[in-house]
Amino acid sequence: MTISEEHPAPPPDYSQMFERLIGEIERHPGVEADSEVRGAEQAVLDGAGQAVERHADALVDLSHDIHDHPELAYEETYAADAVSTFLTERGHETTPGAYGLDTAVHVRAGEGHPRVAFLAEYDALPGIGHACGHNVICTTAVGGFLAAATQLGTTGGSVELIGTPAEEGGGGKEAIARAGGFDDVDAVVMLHPFFADVAEHPFIGVRTVVATFTGINAHAAALPFLGRNALDAAVQAYTGIAQLRQHMLPTDRVHGVFTDGGAKPNIVPDRAEVEFYVRSAEPATLQELCTRVDAIFQGAAIQAGCSVEVTWDRTPVYMPTRLNGPLSQRYAVHATARGRRVLPGGVIPEALTGSTDLGNVSVRVPSIHALLDIAPFGVSLHTPEFAAFARSETGDAGVTDGAYALAGTALDYLSDADLRAAVDEDFAAGGGVVDVEALYP
Ligand SMILES: [Zn+2]
Ligand SMILES: [Zn+2]
Repeated sequence: MTISEEHPAPPPDYSQMFERLIGEIERHPGVEADSEVRGAEQAVLDGAGQAVERHADALVDLSHDIHDHPELAYEETYAADAVSTFLTERGHETTPGAYGLDTAVHVRAGEGHPRVAFLAEYDALPGIGHACGHNVICTTAVGGFLAAATQLGTTGGSVELIGTPAEEGGGGKEAIARAGGFDDVDAVVMLHPFFADVAEHPFIGVRTVVATFTGINAHAAALPFLGRNALDAAVQAYTGIAQLRQHMLPTDRVHGVFTDGGAKPNIVPDRAEVEFYVRSAEPATLQELCTRVDAIFQGAAIQAGCSVEVTWDRTPVYMPTRLNGPLSQRYAVHATARGRRVLPGGVIPEALTGSTDLGNVSVRVPSIHALLDIAPFGVSLHTPEFAAFARSETGDAGVTDGAYALAGTALDYLSDADLRAAVDEDFAAGGGVVDVEALYP
């Protein structure tokens, strides 16, 4: 037997490490469900809670319906229609096809400010359907919006439901932002299903890049000195990025594939291409990392005597999320009131993360992106197993609990000027508004 026949060997047994982590998570008492501000009056929260209960069965049906009709990014016609119909039937005027996007939806209740937007994602994944549980995201937002809307007579202000297409690649929220969808919004609330309740878990930014190297064809045996090898350039780029990895931040990620490596061994390739995703946790570090990756592409091309065309952001940049602390604390208060144990940031290792286009909203408007427990610990997003939990008893309980917690958070914001001041202070301390369009035109 050759060594290669024994490979790929299964990864080593990490169960001890996971058990230690699970132990820490299981023993953790959860966050102190309290914050320095008082939030909404109890009667307002009770009223919202009753509204969630009234709509609970219908919300769960909507969650199942969307789960049963998975649609890819920007193709979510069924889900967008279902959301519009659901809210129209409950007395709200909806605008389908808002922001120039066929599968976006906009609904507003109340007038004037303060104004909170609930974001509803509803796209699914190829082959594995709602394995990211966006049916739960959608219905918690719809339920939260409906419940909060019933209390505007007391709190004043307004709430919006924005159906945001294409989170799984496509960056629908960036498109909505560029169409002005968040210009008149003061705060944004949403959540994402997960295998634990966490009020604040960071998501890192990501940019995509394609480097196309151009060389000169030649007969690889007879006249190789006439050729300039584009594949060599691509290999140099791949190796250069592998070397970069030792010298980047521990939370940075760069990962790529060869998408073109030439046609035939006896032809020196005149074209080769690589595609990479570049991720980092802060807007500034993301920019810096991208500059270094770009320089590697240029250097690799020079080394092989080739030219290179570097194309960034064929799909929109996903900015790192900047989660609003005071608003996340209020979410934790309301999720705890539903009997949930909400973990503080850092108990789930921050490296266990991905990227979301909520990041693009969060650097424009104070935002939360809470994680909602609907699955046993360790069941990963983007697996068939997680898809099953998104349409299970725990997924359904998440729909009503999540709707309640989002509504409570929004109503706190509308009710409490001290909270709004704390939210704004936290947002400013995090760097204030980032002009994403200017950074990444
Ligand atoms: Zn996902
Ligand atoms: Zn997702």
